[in-house]
Amino acid sequence: MLVMPKFYDDFDSLQQVTLNLEFYIDVFACLFCSKSDQLVSHGFIFHRMNGEIVAITGKRILCCNRRGRSGCGRTFNLYLKEKQPRYVYSSAHINVFFLMLLAGHSIPKAYQIATGCYEPRNAYRWLESACLKLVEYRALLNEKTVKTIRTFEVRSLKFKILLSTLKALFSKLDGFPCASFQITTRQSFL
Ligand SMILES: [Zn+2]
Repeated sequence: MLVMPKFYDDFDSLQQVTLNLEFYIDVFACLFCSKSDQLVSHGFIFHRMNGEIVAITGKRILCCNRRGRSGCGRTFNLYLKEKQPRYVYSSAHINVFFLMLLAGHSIPKAYQIATGCYEPRNAYRWLESACLKLVEYRALLNEKTVKTIRTFEVRSLKFKILLSTLKALFSKLDGFPCASFQITTRQSFL
């Protein structure tokens, strides 16, 4: 039995699974209790800006424990690949940020191009999160070690190692690498 994929290519493929959960009873199980026959679709996850809903970014699944059901009562989230869970900005913004760093821009400049924002504090949060994912990024590469490129416009060696890895990784993933990574590995890019 599999855990449900966390990321989906588009809205239709997300709906295809979540509106037909009875067809996947032998396929997908709850993330927490491993029961497979108690999962129900439990509403959309929205992206809000200034309090207003601007996009659907995913759906919630409930392992149902009501009305005679025997699930564990917990919920978990499924997302469209454009969504970076725990982050306001999307995979596309984060993608542009890293592509700009790989193209040789400084951290503030890359962040400004990606988000239009001049205050790059968030950029360092993205970089630190990405550093924690280094092992997962490298697991997708055939090479055991990636040669560290020292010409990137970042001072810290840790970030140079990260960017060297992302350069190799991005050339391997199709389309928009951050979103592709989430589909390929079923885990968030950041
Ligand atoms: Zn459960």
